[in-house]
Amino acid sequence: MNDQTPQSIDAALAEIRSILGPKGWLEDPNDTLKYRTDWRGAPEGEALGVARPSTTQETSAVVKAAVKAGICIVPQGGNTGLAIGSVPTEERPTIIVSTDRLTAVRNLDPDNYAMVAEAGCVIQNMQAVAAEAGRLFPLSLASEGSSTVGGTLSTNAGGNNTIKYGNTREQILGIEAVLADGSVFDGLETLRKNNTGYDMKQLFIGAEGTLGIVTAAAFRLMPLPRVRETAMLSVPSPREAQKLLSSARELSGDTILAFEIMPRAAFDLAIRHIDGITDPLSEPSPWYVLIEMGTPSPLDDLRAKLEAIFAEAMEQGWVTDGVIAESEGQRRELWRIREEQAEAGKREGTPRIAGDVSVPVSRVADYLEQSQAAMSECMPGLLFNCFGHMGDGNIHYTARKPAGVNDAAWEEKKPDLTARMYETALTLGGSFSAEHGIGSEKLPYLAKYGSPSKIALMKAVKQALDPKNMMNPGKVIP
Ligand SMILES: Cc1cc2nc3c(=O)[nH]c(=O)nc-3n(C[C@H](O)[C@H](O)[C@H](O)COP(=O)(O)OP(=O)(O)OC[C@H]3O[C@@H](n4cnc5c(N)ncnc54)[C@H](O)[C@@H]3O)c2cc1C
Repeated sequence: MNDQTPQSIDAALAEIRSILGPKGWLEDPNDTLKYRTDWRGAPEGEALGVARPSTTQETSAVVKAAVKAGICIVPQGGNTGLAIGSVPTEERPTIIVSTDRLTAVRNLDPDNYAMVAEAGCVIQNMQAVAAEAGRLFPLSLASEGSSTVGGTLSTNAGGNNTIKYGNTREQILGIEAVLADGSVFDGLETLRKNNTGYDMKQLFIGAEGTLGIVTAAAFRLMPLPRVRETAMLSVPSPREAQKLLSSARELSGDTILAFEIMPRAAFDLAIRHIDGITDPLSEPSPWYVLIEMGTPSPLDDLRAKLEAIFAEAMEQGWVTDGVIAESEGQRRELWRIREEQAEAGKREGTPRIAGDVSVPVSRVADYLEQSQAAMSECMPGLLFNCFGHMGDGNIHYTARKPAGVNDAAWEEKKPDLTARMYETALTLGGSFSAEHGIGSEKLPYLAKYGSPSKIALMKAVKQALDPKNMMNPGKVIP
């Protein structure tokens, strides 16, 4: 049993203070506030303090001291997660372990196309360090200026380039993690082949901090695309966008890095709330596709391929207009319309239902049509903004309350509307959480929609690695 008394907790906190020194420990509620709530402003969690270890050894010592006294641990990276996973939600004595001082790039081997970095490294820095060595760090997401190696790995984040490179899981070659008993799992290798038993690193990818604290990870790198082409295309509907996607994958020679879909509502939202965003096209369109192609080879004429894709799509009636970025600045402007959706959505304010669903790539148009019809049947006049990574079948779903509906009626209908959004995806072979994980927010849906055999296995793994439920309790396991 844990040795949990007020005296043992005080003694553990004193031990943690002495392990970390003044830079590594925060306990004034004003100092800990930003760690106790998240990017979206989750309800402030309770924490005895925030530990900021600067080495794996310190992390291990902190975990040992905390767990011995019955103090739970919430691992935290950039705090940009979208499932209320990185802040305390349970009424148990808890500390947050932030990785914001675990920021060393331990090794970069360009010839092995591999990079080893500590958990607190910010994704944008990883991209920059790899690029300096002529390599691509393949993850790219709108939160990359704040989200970290550890958090991205622990949520198996996807992002814009999944169509080409896969999710975080596909990038990981090795992991180092501190387990719930304070021991260190040393799986930090950079091999492409190593069939020597169970692939234990996989357990930590997508575990959202419930099985241990990731302290470092080895990533595969890719050749750096030296030529990029980016275009915003007007399309009549997701059905034509889907035809465009299939054709573009073939005609581009599989050089598509991103294929994002947005309705007109997404453009209007970004223009309304984000400074400097304007419509790059002269006529409004019901839907848009942001397509990006890239290749490491300067011999590959991507502009010719993009123009061929464009011409074929215009002829078929899949595309009605479009603009190709002529400079890096213009490319960034096109991307801002897509990447500012989360921020603009937050500023809009009107009550909404939000989802992060996936379906097979071939069913995205079916999903959008069927889900919007099912939800509109329940409440006519909903304001939809469904956008996202069409290239990998992932849609970020927003349905806002119509102006004439009062708050009580909205609250009453929300569960039914949410069920229709998720259940339409499930019927098409999809998932109710594509990228953002389970955290504490999606627990009821995992309990409702998850496979019982999978949940039983998850509980068995949790029991084996963290029998006292000390690592991020109240998250992921229903
Ligand atoms: C504007 C915006 C855009 C986004 N776009 C995308 C997107 O395109 N694709 C996508 O997949 N996600 C996206 N997200 C979600 C989010 O950015 C990812 O989940 C992200 O990578 C989390 O990283 P983080 O460092 O902020 O983790 P945090 O939010 O700090 O933590 C997330 C989870 O991981 C755990 N965790 C954190 N660090 C560790 C560690 N070292 N060891 C063990 N567990 C740990 C936490 O306990 C928590 O459960 C977006 C978020 C925002 C705000």
